[in-house]
This record gives sequence, C-alpha cells and structure tokens, in this order.
Amino acid sequence: MKIAVIGFGAAAIGFLEKMKHSKHEIHIFEKSKDIFSSSISGIRADGKLFVSSEMGGDIYIDRKLQKQFVDYYINHSSSKNYESGKSFSNEKHYNTFYEKGFLPITSDFYHLGTDQLKEVLNNIFQGFINHKNLIFHFNKRITEIEVTNKQVIINNSETYDKVLIAVGRSGHKLVKSVIQKYPELITDNTQVDLGIRYELPNHIVQELNDEMYEFKLKYKSKTGYMVRTFCNNPSGYVVTENYDDFCTVNGHAKLNDKSKNTNFAILTTIKLTQPFNEPISYGSYIAKLSNLLAGKDKVILQTYDHFKKSKRTKNLYRVFPTLPETKYILGDINLAFPRRIIESIIDFIENLNLIVPGIANPDNLVYAPEIKFYSNKLSNEVFENLQFAGDCSGSTRSIIYATVHGYLVAEKFMN
Ligand SMILES: Cc1cc2nc3c(=O)[nH]c(=O)nc-3n(C[C@H](O)[C@H](O)[C@H](O)COP(=O)(O)OP(=O)(O)OC[C@H]3O[C@@H](n4cnc5c(N)ncnc54)[C@H](O)[C@@H]3O)c2cc1C
Repeated sequence: MKIAVIGFGAAAIGFLEKMKHSKHEIHIFEKSKDIFSSSISGIRADGKLFVSSEMGGDIYIDRKLQKQFVDYYINHSSSKNYESGKSFSNEKHYNTFYEKGFLPITSDFYHLGTDQLKEVLNNIFQGFINHKNLIFHFNKRITEIEVTNKQVIINNSETYDKVLIAVGRSGHKLVKSVIQKYPELITDNTQVDLGIRYELPNHIVQELNDEMYEFKLKYKSKTGYMVRTFCNNPSGYVVTENYDDFCTVNGHAKLNDKSKNTNFAILTTIKLTQPFNEPISYGSYIAKLSNLLAGKDKVILQTYDHFKKSKRTKNLYRVFPTLPETKYILGDINLAFPRRIIESIIDFIENLNLIVPGIANPDNLVYAPEIKFYSNKLSNEVFENLQFAGDCSGSTRSIIYATVHGYLVAEKFMN
C-alpha cells in the first residue's frame, strides 16, 4: 500500500512508530523546511506529558498505553531527566478542593521541558529515517485533498491508497478546505475556551507545585460557565503565541532555566448552540480586539485588582512579568472580553483564594487573551481511505493523546 501522512507532529509519530516495520511505502509531508524548523510540530513546547483518563482528549485510551508513550518520549532524550508529579492523588487535597465546589482532575505528569524537546524530536526523526519505507518530504505544504472511490489525490497530483491527515491545529486551513468539500465529516463544532494567563510569585502556590507540579481544577462558576485551570508552569515563563492574524498568550517552563513566578491559564468554556457554528471566528474576533487595544503582536497585561475593578493598570507593584516588556501593554482586559467571561474568572479566583491564600492578591498579574480553540470534531467513519488523527481530528488536545491516536489509526490501517 502507498500511504501519505500529512504533518509530522505527535500523531504522525505514533502512526509511524506502529508502521515503521511494515512493508507499506509511507510518504510524510511536512510544511516546515526541516526537522530543526521552529514551526515543526506542536510538541516543541512545553513537553509536559500527561497520563490521565480525564483530560487530553475525548477518546478512551488505556492508561498503560499512555504511559508507554510517555516512556517513549523520555527515552528519546539523552539525559532521561524529567520532573514529575501527580495531580490530586492525595486524598486530603482532593477533599479540600471538592468541599469548596471544585472538581479536581487526577492525572500523572512528566515534564521534559521546552529545552529538551528539540533534541527528542530530532532523535525520533533520526530513528525513523533508518527505515527505508518511510520517505520524508519537508517544505511541502498540502493544500488539496480529493477522495475518489479507491484512492486519495493530494495537491491535485499525487495518488495514494490511504491518507492520514495529522496537521494539528496549525493545519486548520487544510482541514477547512477538506470539510468545505466534504461537510459530512463534521460531527460537532460549537466550543471555544476563552480566558487569561495568571502569573504570581512561586511561594503562593509552592505547596501545590511541590505536591503535584500541575494542579488541574474545574469549577462551575456562578455564571453557569465551566472554568478550568490549564497548563501550570512552576518557575515558568509567559510567552506570546502568534497566529496568522492575531496573537495570544501562553506559558511554558524549562527544565534548567527557572523564574521566580508560576503561571497558569484560567479558561472559560463557551458552548454555543444553533445557528452558531463558528467557534474559531468567535475566539479570533476577541483576540483581535485585544490586539487592537494592545498593539500589533502584543497582549494586554493588568493587575488582578484592576481586572476586577475594570480600571486600566498603569503601574505594577510586587509581581513582575516574565513576558518581555516589548510583548505587552498595561491596559484593561474588560474592554475586550464579554462580561460573563470576566465574572466567571473572578468567581473562580476568589473561591480558589479560600483554599490557597494569596491567589487573589491585588498585584498578581492577568494577561489576555488566552484562547484554546477546539477543532471541528471529524468522523473517521465517512471515508475508509482518508483518516484524521491528533488535534486536527477534534478528538485530542495533548501530546500523548495525539500520539496514541496516530498509533491506533495505524492499527486500523494494518487490519
Ligand atoms: C505552545 C504550546 C504548548 C503546548 N504544550 C503542551 C504540553 O506541555 N503538553 C501536551 O500534552 N500538549 C501540549 N500542547 C499541545 C500539543 O502540542 C498538541 O496537542 C499535539 O502536538 C498535537 O499533535 P498533532 O500531531 O495533532 O499536531 P502537531 O504536533 O501540531 O503536528 C502537526 C504538524 O503538521 C504540520 N502541518 C500543518 N499543516 C500542514 C500542511 N498543510 N501540510 C503539511 N504539514 C502541515 C505542522 O507543521 C506540524 O509539524 C502544546 C501546544 C502549544 C501550541
């Protein structure tokens, strides 16, 4: 069989791991110019690997298989060093948060760090190119997919027996063109997570950081919206993330280079109903409005007190941002975000403060916009010869889930 894999990210890695010993001729098309390109694969930051049945994606993946792939990534680093923790395995912590209305999420974490990931990716790639049936094509962006009865044509020229689309979120243009042609692939598209990145001194959350590394919480706020923490980075750094036409905030942590602050996202899940069907546009407009206020390629930064009072921040006090000054403007997030989202976030922080004093300190830092887009949920049942794996399928949101998803689709191809 001649197979094409579009994108070389986490899902493609899982797929190729299963397929590498097969007799199939597999062509991998990656839009980045080479394996060292900074745009290759979402696995470049921050390298926190989770084992959980409550987060990471909407498909069931056996925890043993998840752990197998955690070990796979760790074993591809030369140091084999990582940080680890367990979120809410401690019953006392679980109960304390539960009593105050929070839903603690249990999971195990293994943090490789942004600094090690490049090497891990390169080592995985070097292993793959030893297999003659795996043929890599870098600098090759796929823009067109045509499904015929028996075959799939890519970029109006090359024909394959089967194609795996594994383009992650950055491949949304390709996915959009495919679903425009084959709308029957869409099974769900109504959700977007909008919120902020919160930054505060390490000592306030030291106990949680030490105990769990990442504390994952959900909370049904008084507005009715579900709010959650996401991507906690002890001694980490806040960064901006550039999309084609807007910029958002994110965070990461390094294994060696540590800051004095912890950052994590606080996100509100918005699920809209018919006739609405454009969650990505909704999130993008709010991001663009924030950028309009902050200036090109910048995000808004505000103290928590001013965020609550809807007052523009002009000075900071004890907490200083890890995001470079050229990347933010001191402002008022309330000018860009809908009120219900702001109220949900404040409700979350105030209630968390009852358990973790200092979380609601007036000079803690709030950055916006932080947005998590959910891809349209796509069906793998419509075409046997065209399959989706990883984040572009709408079924995964993490390195491990995307990798295993690719692995499972490969099993399906081989049967
Ligand atoms: C800043 C950041 C930090 C993150 N941190 C973590 C973390 O710590 N832990 C975690 O579990 N998850 C994390 N994630 C999420 C994680 O990276 C993704 O869930 C995972 O990488 C998804 O894997 P994937 O294979 O679906 O897509 P990706 O890994 O994104 O790979 C897709 C590949 O397809 C290529 N591509 C796109 N379009 C085309 C095209 N048209 N033609 C050819 N190639 C194309 C891209 O260049 C890319 O290399 C993070 C994401 C981001 C953005």
